[in-house]
Amino acid sequence: MAQKNENAVGALRGVGPQKIAAYEKLGIRTKEDLLYHFPRAYENRGAVFTLADAPLDCRAALYLTVGSEPRSVRVRGRMTLLKFRAFDESGVAEITYFNQEYLKSKFLLGTTFRFWGKVQKKGKRYALTSPEAEEVRDDAPLRDLLPVYRLSEGLTPRLVCENVATVLQNAALVPDFLPDEIRMREKLATLPFALRNIHFPTDYPALAAAKKRLIFDEFFIFALGLSLTRRKSKSTGAPPCAVDTLAPFLDKIPFALTGAQERVLGEIRADMARDVPMSRIVVGDVGCGKTVLAAAAMWIAVRGGRQAALMAPTEILARQHYDDLAPLFAALGIRAELLIGATPAAQKRKIRAALSDSDAEKRLPVVIGTQALLSEGVEFAAPGLIVTDEQHRFGVRQRAVLSEKNEHAHMLVMSATPIPRSLALALYGDLDCSRVDEMPKGRQKVETFVVDESYRPRLLAFIRKQCAEGGQVYIVCPAIEERDAAPDELLLAEIGDEAPLGDAHPPLKAAISYAKDLQEALPDLTVAFVHGGMKSREKERVMEDFAAGRIGVLVSTTVIEVGVNVPNATLMIVENAERFGLSQLHQLRGRVGRGARRSYCVLVSDTDLAADTPAARRLAVMKTTYDGFAIAERDLTLRGPGDFLSGGESDAIRQSGGVHFRLAALCDDTGLLNTAFSEARALIESDQDLGAHPALRAKVDEMFTLDANTIS
Ligand code: ADP
Ligand code: MG
Repeated sequence: MAQKNENAVGALRGVGPQKIAAYEKLGIRTKEDLLYHFPRAYENRGAVFTLADAPLDCRAALYLTVGSEPRSVRVRGRMTLLKFRAFDESGVAEITYFNQEYLKSKFLLGTTFRFWGKVQKKGKRYALTSPEAEEVRDDAPLRDLLPVYRLSEGLTPRLVCENVATVLQNAALVPDFLPDEIRMREKLATLPFALRNIHFPTDYPALAAAKKRLIFDEFFIFALGLSLTRRKSKSTGAPPCAVDTLAPFLDKIPFALTGAQERVLGEIRADMARDVPMSRIVVGDVGCGKTVLAAAAMWIAVRGGRQAALMAPTEILARQHYDDLAPLFAALGIRAELLIGATPAAQKRKIRAALSDSDAEKRLPVVIGTQALLSEGVEFAAPGLIVTDEQHRFGVRQRAVLSEKNEHAHMLVMSATPIPRSLALALYGDLDCSRVDEMPKGRQKVETFVVDESYRPRLLAFIRKQCAEGGQVYIVCPAIEERDAAPDELLLAEIGDEAPLGDAHPPLKAAISYAKDLQEALPDLTVAFVHGGMKSREKERVMEDFAAGRIGVLVSTTVIEVGVNVPNATLMIVENAERFGLSQLHQLRGRVGRGARRSYCVLVSDTDLAADTPAARRLAVMKTTYDGFAIAERDLTLRGPGDFLSGGESDAIRQSGGVHFRLAALCDDTGLLNTAFSEARALIESDQDLGAHPALRAKVDEMFTLDANTIS
C-alpha cells in the first residue's frame, strides 16, 4: 500500500485529488507551502458600524440583535427563504438567507451576532442578504481580522482557512531557523508566533509584528545567499583583455560618448585588463545609452582574442540588440550571430559548433541571444565576456548559471533600474556598480500631468488625437481582474506599525474590462491587451504587433516594464497611479519620448492631490523630477525598499529567473533591510558556509534553487 505523505496537503481533511490539483496551481504542495501562502488581505471585522453609518453596498461588520423569530418561506418550487429582523440602536434590518433552513435554530430571539455583509437600503428599511454571522459571547471574543487568500478554481475561502488552521495547530512543523541571539537582538517575533498571526492575527500589533519577522526572514536569507555566491566568485584566472586605444571602435559609432558613458567605459576597460573576473553592473535610465557600452566591452574582449555573449530577457529584445549591433560588429570585421529559441535547429547546431570551435580562425566571436544561451550544449571555446541585459532587478540565479559555466569570464550586467546607493550596496553587493547618470544631448523631457477622474473625457480625446497624428498609446493598469479590488479589505501590503484609519480604497481599473470598454469608446482604433498571466509567446506577439504599429493603444498590467523600444509611442497613461512606486512610474514614463515626436505621460489618480498625503507627495515628485537616481532616492524615503524588489508583477520576477520575494516587496522599512543584511554579513563572518546552521542553509538553498528550476 502506498504510504501517504504526512507533509503533503493531501493529508489534510477535505483535500482530495481535485483540491490537491487546485492547491498545486497556487504552487502549494506541502503543509509548509500552505503556511507560506500568506493572506493577501484581511477582512476588518473589528471596524464595527451601526446600520445608519454603514457604507452602502460595501461589506461591513455590524452588531445586531435578533428581533423576530426566523420564518421560512417556500418560493419558486424548491427554494426556501429564511427571514427575520435584527436591530441595533440606529435601525432595523431584514436578514435573508437562501436554502439554509437549518440556521433557524441558530438565530434565537434576543441573541446578538456580529454580522458581516453588504448593507442595502430598501426604502426606510435596511437589508442584509446571506451575511456571515458569529454569535457575540462574553467567554469567546471574536477575531477582528480574518484572512483573505488568493484562491484557484476549486478552492473555497472556508476550506483554505480550515486547512491553514489545522496545520498551524502543529507548531512543530516549521522549526525556527533563525538563531535566537539574532532574533532577540532585532526584537523579532518567533516563527510560530509570526506564522500564526500572519494568518489569524489576534490584533493589529500582532499582525504587524508577524509581518516584520517574515520580511526580515526573506531579506536575511536572501542576503546570506548573496554572500555565499559572492565568496565563490572571488578568484583569478580571467583572461586579461586590454586595448591600447578605443579609437577604432569609437570611429564606427555615429555620436560622441557622453561624459558618463566615457567614465563608465573607463571603469569597464580597467576591469577587463585584469586577471580577476570583472563583476560589474551598469545602471542607468532607459535611453542613457548602455548598449553602446556593452558593445564596446564586447569589442575589447574580441580584440583580446576572446569571445563575447550578450543575453537579453526576451526574444524581441535579443533581436533588437542583434539588429542594432550586428552592423556595427560587421563594420569592425567581427562576425555575430543571433541564438534564440526560435532559431531553426540546424542553425542552432551550426552556431553551437562555431562557438566551441578550437580553431581561433573559425570560431564565432560574438553571440547575442536569450536564455537559449544557457541551454545544454552551448559552450564557449574561449569565453571572455558575458553581458546580461537585465531589465528586471534580480536575475541573480540566472546570472549565476552563466558565470558558473564560464567561471573565469568577465561579467557585465546592464540594468535600467536606478536604485539608491544604500540599496545597491546591500542588493548588488557582489557587483561593482557603475552609474550612467547623464542623458545624451537633445533628449526631450516627457511632459507629465497628474489628473483625476474628471479628466476622463478629455483623456479619451487626447488618445484619439495622438493616434490620429500617428502616435501610439500605452495604458497601464495595476490589476488584472476585479477581484483584486475589494475596497473593504485591509491589504497585507499596507500593514504597518500604526493601525490604519480604515479609509476605503478607490476602486482599481482592471485591465481586462478596461480594454473592452476602451475599444467600445474608440471603435476606429485597435486596442489590445497584454498581462502577466499570458503565455510569453502570446505576450511577445502582442508586443511585436504594437512595435510594428498594428496596434494603436496597448492596455497592460506592468509587464511592459520589460518592454521593447517603440519610438512611435507618444503617450503613457497610468491608471491608479497612486498604487505605483515612483521608480516604477519613472520606468513606465521612459517607454515614451524615445522618438522625435513630442511625448506625454498622464498619471490618473483619485487621490486628493491637494492633500498632504504620501500618495499626493509621490505624484507631485513625478511632475518635477526626471532624473532616475534622484527619483529612486525619493522613492526609498517615501515608500521604503519594497518597490525595488518587485518587478511590479510577480510573474515577471519569476520568469526572470530572479529570486522570488513573497513579502519583502511589501516592505516600507529600509532599516529592516539594512539590519537583515548586516546580521547576515556578521553570521557569514563566523560561519562561512553556514555549516553550523543547517536549517538556515537549507532555507538559503531553497530560495535560490527553486528559482533555478524556472530557468529552461
Ligand atoms: P539604454 O541605456 O536604454 O539601453 P540605448 O543603449 O538603447 O539605451 O540607447 C538609446 C539610444 O540612444 C540609441 O538609439 C543609441 O544609439 C543612442 N545613444 C547612445 N549614446 C548616445 C550618445 N552619446 N549620443 C547620442 N545618442 C546616443
Ligand atoms: Mg537597453
